[in-house]
Amino acid sequence: MAVPGKAAAFRLPPLPTVGEIIKLFRLKAQKQLSQNFLLDLRLTDKIVKQAGELKNAHVCEVGPGPGGITRSILNAGVEQLLLIEKDARFIPGLQMLSEAAPGKVRIVHGDILTYKMERAFPKFLKKNWEDEPPDIHIIGNLPFSVSTPLIIKWLENISKKDGPFIYGRTQMTLTFQKEVAERLTANPGGKQRSRLSIMSQHLCTVENCFVIPGQAFVPKPEVDVAVVHFPPLVQPKIQQPFELVEKVVRSVFQFRRKYCFRGIETLFPENGRLKRTEQLMMTANVDPTLRPFQLSMSQFRSLCDTYRKMCDEDPALFVYNYREELRQKKKMRSLLESTSEPKQT
Ligand code: SAM
Repeated sequence: MAVPGKAAAFRLPPLPTVGEIIKLFRLKAQKQLSQNFLLDLRLTDKIVKQAGELKNAHVCEVGPGPGGITRSILNAGVEQLLLIEKDARFIPGLQMLSEAAPGKVRIVHGDILTYKMERAFPKFLKKNWEDEPPDIHIIGNLPFSVSTPLIIKWLENISKKDGPFIYGRTQMTLTFQKEVAERLTANPGGKQRSRLSIMSQHLCTVENCFVIPGQAFVPKPEVDVAVVHFPPLVQPKIQQPFELVEKVVRSVFQFRRKYCFRGIETLFPENGRLKRTEQLMMTANVDPTLRPFQLSMSQFRSLCDTYRKMCDEDPALFVYNYREELRQKKKMRSLLESTSEPKQT
């Protein structure tokens, strides 16, 4: 019986189990699509709990598959749940869940990499960036081949405040291969410190919540999985355009085991490279003999700010592309070699 004066909490009515849905609709996991399902609802509840308070929230679940996480999201009492699933075989099972939670679920048969997230939620949910995050969450257990490009795309969206972040600081709770999660959260000096660590930590508080052992999935993947929660920061740690930060960070990590100046050199054309590298390192006050993985976030900020000033003084600098220069040189060399070869008779 409902407690007088209190709205009764939403619970899904009795339904076939996720395992039964899989059998009923013959949802054999497709290995080539890296489909690994979670059938243990205690585990899916634990993932959903990491997202925070979901009562009356608007949630988008990416890749719901047979719907284990979907059930936990619905049981958390959300107001609206948008499901984006690429594989048509899962749609009838999701429709069954939708009927059990009338008016709450919207199913989209589509690809999250191209879906227009800026139109996914009602406009009235929008918050200013500096305000509390909107009551919007993105949750998903996606294939690893999708989750990494997706987080890079969403980090760019955070930086530009577009895509799912036109609503404000929308929070994401996503699964990754354990090693990728370690890269996302690695501190300076850590073995896993990489480009992904800087790009994610300068825009979000990145929380590595817990590890799900591979054997919890059906079928079992080769690797363990980690749940990562990303609340976007009000103020990015590096206040420069995404493309500029990306270029500096990519260049620095180009030669991971060498001194960091080796990668920084590649920001500059051959003519004047040494002088400009010295100028950048000195003005940014960064020791050129540190290794890329030893650099702190404030050292990356200083490098990006100084590089930005140099680009403002010489706008051709930002479009300079080291790899393209190498390609052109190689082309020229092979052209010269072919024209200087003696002709065979
Ligand atoms: N969330 C379910 C679970 O935890 O049991 C299924 C997880 S399975 C690893 C990944 C799911 O994402 C599959 O249902 C797959 O079809 C779906 N998927 C894969 N790529 C997708 C994409 N680009 N857009 C939307 N869904 C995708």
